[in-house]
Amino acid sequence: MSEHFQHRARKRFGQNFLHDAGVIHHILRAIHALPGERLVEIGPGQGALTEGLLGSGAQLDVIELDFDLIPILKHKFGAVPGFALHQGDALKFDFASLNPEPRSLRVVGNLPYNISTPLIFHLLEHAGLFCDMHFMLQKEVVQRLAATPGGGDWGRLSIMVQYHCRVEHLFNVGSGAFKPAPKVDSAIVRLVPHAVLPHPAKDHHLLERVVREAFNQRRKTLRNTLKALLDSDAIEAAGVDGSLRPEQLDVAAFVRLADQLSDQTLKHAAEQPNGV
Ligand code: SAM
Repeated sequence: MSEHFQHRARKRFGQNFLHDAGVIHHILRAIHALPGERLVEIGPGQGALTEGLLGSGAQLDVIELDFDLIPILKHKFGAVPGFALHQGDALKFDFASLNPEPRSLRVVGNLPYNISTPLIFHLLEHAGLFCDMHFMLQKEVVQRLAATPGGGDWGRLSIMVQYHCRVEHLFNVGSGAFKPAPKVDSAIVRLVPHAVLPHPAKDHHLLERVVREAFNQRRKTLRNTLKALLDSDAIEAAGVDGSLRPEQLDVAAFVRLADQLSDQTLKHAAEQPNGV
């Protein structure tokens, strides 16, 4: 890269650039992009992954927030067929604007850690567009995504992501692979949206609400944490033991609670004299 394109990593954009060729190769092999596929890279930075992704012959849209990186990316990849550059915030990006076929987009990103959870929630709103997603995240976040019920890592993030996706914790990456080196270890995770939801909720927003409420006080019993939404009888009617703590419930049990709340809300509305 020529001298005048030198860029100083910015903390506020979560810029820790990958520089370890072995790690970059390992990630690209895990993604295994193929000619003709449509990929979207979030936060391409200086192009550590971009180069290999484009080298596969795939079509690649990249979304980068930092204006100062735009000329670098244009200079490096602007002439490569299939490359499209979007300057902007991935949290606000409308993925449907790329006009993809359903379940066709493959999303990739060494994500800024400060936006990783909101970004995953933003992507899940359009889960039907995506074939799969590969992210580099803080290792603890990957452990939460891939957690199983019963442990301390199991929580709102695990449940809402596993409601939509199969999750694979692929491998860990030490901080020495980045410049500057972050203070935390990282890991690569693969999320594959379910073609058919294994436990579809009657109302997705009520599922979010029940899960949020339950984990507000994760040490308390469900009977306690959910009392503003469901009484003991309703919890029992959902086939759930109210004396359990939220971390002991699997996705299917949370869906049963949300469906119970949905039935209760509809019944309540029907019983109102004015029908509301
Ligand atoms: N992919 C590069 C690599 O692996 O070396 C850079 C990774 S760096 C951890 C994160 C990148 O995301 C930076 O280039 C940063 O400017 C960009 N970024 C930060 N916030 C963003 C946002 N909200 N939308 C899009 N890109 C963002």
